[in-house]
Amino acid sequence: MLRPLCTAAALALACPAQAELSFDTTSDDTIAYVESNLLGIFYHELGHALIDILGLPIFGQEEDAADVLSIFLIDAFYEEESAVQLAYDAAFGFLGEAEANSEIAFWDVHGPDLQRYYNTVCLFYGANPEEREDVAQDLGLPEERAEYCPEEYDQAAQSWGGALDEIVHDKGGKTLALGDFEVDSDGGSLTADVVRAEVAALNQEFRLPEDLLISVIPCGEANAYYDPQRVEIVMCTEFADALVEMSPEM
Ligand SMILES: [Zn+2]
Repeated sequence: MLRPLCTAAALALACPAQAELSFDTTSDDTIAYVESNLLGIFYHELGHALIDILGLPIFGQEEDAADVLSIFLIDAFYEEESAVQLAYDAAFGFLGEAEANSEIAFWDVHGPDLQRYYNTVCLFYGANPEEREDVAQDLGLPEERAEYCPEEYDQAAQSWGGALDEIVHDKGGKTLALGDFEVDSDGGSLTADVVRAEVAALNQEFRLPEDLLISVIPCGEANAYYDPQRVEIVMCTEFADALVEMSPEM
């Protein structure tokens, strides 16, 4: 579950009856930022799905564990240059949310957005500290934290790496399945493209013990969530529009 973007007094976001944006005049950088964040969000929801489907034990907040999977997969699946870009965009996504939600909800199941930002930077840096020192500095990771990040990454690799080992299959599978697609906006189309590509790529690697549906539908709010009853990830079409509004370019 991601926190719906519109619950707090959002600055730049006119929710929930926001007009659907046309992306005709949206810059390539902004589109790339939106795609990266949709990917990061999708991996986060995949984390919730795997925790449920594989019955993974969680010691701590499930939301943190899902964030860890997201950055772990970005590091694992992508070449360095793309991974760095994805990590920057995902980190900036949390900064954008931090700016939009000026009041920190300490009661929330998610950590505060700024903490999620630093966790993201730390884990990404910790995965490859030799090559990513400039990234860590550029993104303002304090040395006090950076010191521990390689260890944090090792823990993530042990936990999530072990879980993923269970579902890696030589011949892949077809267990990630496309569910409902109700796409009638540019944001929805972009989300559908990202999801289709990811489902195809993940099916090359993984075979889950049960089918996981992934749907792209309007929800009336900018959100994404995993539904354990239906074993389904729902990516709301409105999220892409909200991400455009939060983009550092705007
Ligand atoms: Zn979540």
